[in-house]
Amino acid sequence: MTMFDIHLLPCLSDNYVPLVRDCATGTVAIVDPADAEAVAAELDRLGWHPSLILNTHHHFDHVGGNLELKARYGLTIVGPAREADRIPGIDRAVAGGDTVMLGAEAGHVFDVPGHTAGHIAYWFEGAKTVFVGDTLFAAGCGRLFEGTPAQMWSSLNKLADLPGDTLVYCAHEYTESNIRFARSVDPENAALHVREVSVHAARRLNEPTVPTTIAVELATNPFLRADVPDFVRAMHMSGADPITVFAATRKAKDNFR
Ligand SMILES: [Zn+2]
Repeated sequence: MTMFDIHLLPCLSDNYVPLVRDCATGTVAIVDPADAEAVAAELDRLGWHPSLILNTHHHFDHVGGNLELKARYGLTIVGPAREADRIPGIDRAVAGGDTVMLGAEAGHVFDVPGHTAGHIAYWFEGAKTVFVGDTLFAAGCGRLFEGTPAQMWSSLNKLADLPGDTLVYCAHEYTESNIRFARSVDPENAALHVREVSVHAARRLNEPTVPTTIAVELATNPFLRADVPDFVRAMHMSGADPITVFAATRKAKDNFR
């Protein structure tokens, strides 16, 4: 049974804003509204009335629509406690271990620092869906603006431990360039090659490559594979610990053109 009806709205240059409707109750949430006008126009088109914003972190392309949407719909804004002073209009500050209800579905809040210091993710176990903001991307991960490689590796592993069929909603369409990098560091990975072909096909048709799944990421995302012997060998780092391998992979991506 489908728990959520999710409409993925492209915003700004490459953001995705998930508009999430709980089928049992009709409750609608907006995840990380980048742009109030675009979100409101799409909600009107769908005939959906939102009662909730879920923010993952404080970056402007995730909270930029907060105040205008709150004024328009009178909705409740939930966001990370550790960044509460940077989340416009926040009503409820949450952290790892907290639960957020979206209609009938319970969302477990995870602390996933690294991209920002207070970044959180929302895992809806019953709906097999996780909203990860800029922590995990399809075939990539967020840049480390405010955290260490050790923090990000730990955060990514919390997500990697979710069931393989969990749908992963990330906040940007970066997949093609992520795969180009992934192929450069993991060229023998057959699953990655298969994924490259399907991603190119989707993008040629201007289709989103989000959501992905945890299982697909475990097989193909270099940032989840720093403890996989084949990948460590491909990085010429046999014997190195996963955090060191992860840090080297992240640094290589930062410098990749
Ligand atoms: Zn961000």
